[in-house]
Amino acid sequence: MNVILFGPPGAGKGTQAKLLSSARGWVHLSTGDMMRSERSAGTALGAKFDEYMSQGKLVPDQLVLDLIRSKISNLATGAVFDGYPRTTAQAEALDQMLSGIGRKITKVLELKVSLEEVVGRIAGRVTCLDCGQIQHVSYISSLSDQTCKHCGSAKLVRRQDDSEEMARIRYNEYREKTEPVLAYYQKQHLVVGIDGLGSVDEVQKRLVQALSDGK
Ligand code: AMP
Repeated sequence: MNVILFGPPGAGKGTQAKLLSSARGWVHLSTGDMMRSERSAGTALGAKFDEYMSQGKLVPDQLVLDLIRSKISNLATGAVFDGYPRTTAQAEALDQMLSGIGRKITKVLELKVSLEEVVGRIAGRVTCLDCGQIQHVSYISSLSDQTCKHCGSAKLVRRQDDSEEMARIRYNEYREKTEPVLAYYQKQHLVVGIDGLGSVDEVQKRLVQALSDGK
């Protein structure tokens, strides 16, 4: 199966994609993670990505396609796409690349979460540098006295673009450029709406249920 996890920033796509891909043995393809690792490696491409990411703007389609093309041509198992495609041009290119290897998108799972909910989540979101788990801390608390809920490490970091102001800019980008992609997949009857509120486990169960429904 080749599944797209769709939804605004902060909807839980990364967390849910990690769970789904490890449970099924699928590849987790997150263009945001790929861009952040280019940026941390200090490459010229990473610097280019940073120009857009640091402003909460979408990276231009051509750069995104150059980044993801080789990953798709080497796909050996199912895949969960997380944060990609984010424009209709990216969705069309993805269909072409998949059809080149005899595959297609099986389902688009749309995580539905309101603006106020995503802003609150993003402003409190941190990642553990030791175990990689994404989690939430209290809005006002300082990171220095917090530890990872999963492995106890004190190495919790906040993403550069995870402030309240940036969350609103990213949400606007989503509404303007990414939400229209849903219509592209609705025409193909691939979209299933999922309530994104609730615990990680509850949302994961809804996703698994939607994948097993034959629609
Ligand atoms: P994410 O980790 O998916 O929330 O992405 C973080 C940032 O990376 C976004 O706000 C964009 O600046 C950039 N980005 C990630 N994926 C894409 C994409 N498919 N198209 C354009 N920009 C992207």
